[in-house]
Amino acid sequence: MTPGAGSGHGPALYDAVVVGGGPAGLAAGTHLSRAGYSTLLLERESLGGQALGLERIENYPGFPRGISGVKLMALWLAQARRWGLKTRTAEAVTVSLGADKIFVVRLRKGPALRARSVLWCAGAGFRKLGVPGESRLLGKGVWNTHDEAPDCAGRQVAVVGSGETAVQQAELLARKAAKVYLISRTETLKAHKLLLERFSRSGAVTLPGYRVSRLLGKKKLEAVELVPVSRRGEVKRMKADALFTLVGKEPGEIPAGWLLKPAGFYEAGDFSAGIFRQVAVAGGDGIRAAMRSIRYLEGL
Ligand SMILES: Cc1cc2nc3c(=O)[nH]c(=O)nc-3n(C[C@H](O)[C@H](O)[C@H](O)COP(=O)(O)OP(=O)(O)OC[C@H]3O[C@@H](n4cnc5c(N)ncnc54)[C@H](O)[C@@H]3O)c2cc1C
Repeated sequence: MTPGAGSGHGPALYDAVVVGGGPAGLAAGTHLSRAGYSTLLLERESLGGQALGLERIENYPGFPRGISGVKLMALWLAQARRWGLKTRTAEAVTVSLGADKIFVVRLRKGPALRARSVLWCAGAGFRKLGVPGESRLLGKGVWNTHDEAPDCAGRQVAVVGSGETAVQQAELLARKAAKVYLISRTETLKAHKLLLERFSRSGAVTLPGYRVSRLLGKKKLEAVELVPVSRRGEVKRMKADALFTLVGKEPGEIPAGWLLKPAGFYEAGDFSAGIFRQVAVAGGDGIRAAMRSIRYLEGL
């Protein structure tokens, strides 16, 4: 065990700084705090991360009827606080490692932090379609998840993607929207049986074999242009009040100029999970990163 934050001169020194307060970061921070290491978790938006947007998580173990993401994250946060995890609303912008084996985490606002170990649990961002109009209309009819979009009741909406997240989102939206189209480049959807069954009963319509080529609208999204992937068939223009782009996710870069990641720095959760992106996986991965960090701290 090492002295807590703020001991000595200069910026606060923590045993560990965790970047990201989603499931991975909360699990990692709880594990480190419970083991007695002074740990500060930084979250730039909302503690709970993406899980906060999940209306009902049905595949998280221990809850036979499922649980809302908000409730589950409130439980995780209560457990973290019980073990003394400190949290702060802040965005980490760079990480560096000094010759003294101390990491320096610089923040968008406020003084830098020092830590013996850093756990990067920053999640992954949604992949862009990369078509004209997308950046301009983002937040103006173009969204990633339904919780960030205004009410879609009575609207005509489109979802782009063929995976589990897109299928789930389309089914959820179909409960309120007037019409939901699922635009998929592939002929088949890649979701498990239960989700596909729900989707087929939802009233949402699949448009397979099409890709989005352009988004149209002046101040907000008005229409979507679609071209057939096979080059056969017609270019379609479809009215859309909202479009959800769910064509995968990609993690950002670690904001450090390292060629090799140094000992004491660990990644967890969606940031490093490849295609295995789930709350339980992120939590377990956070704990694994915390265990690695503890082994490292013990060896210092
Ligand atoms: C539509 C949808 C449906 C899903 N359905 C399910 C489901 O049914 N079951 C399931 O188990 N999982 C589901 N998931 C996946 C699940 O939400 C994620 O796998 C999980 O939230 C990943 O946790 P994480 O902590 O790795 O990342 P996140 O939850 O993304 O948390 C990362 C956090 O880091 C913060 N952050 C990023 N960069 C910085 C920085 N530089 N400084 C400070 N903070 C930073 C972010 O603000 C964010 O809060 C779904 C996801 C989506 C989008």
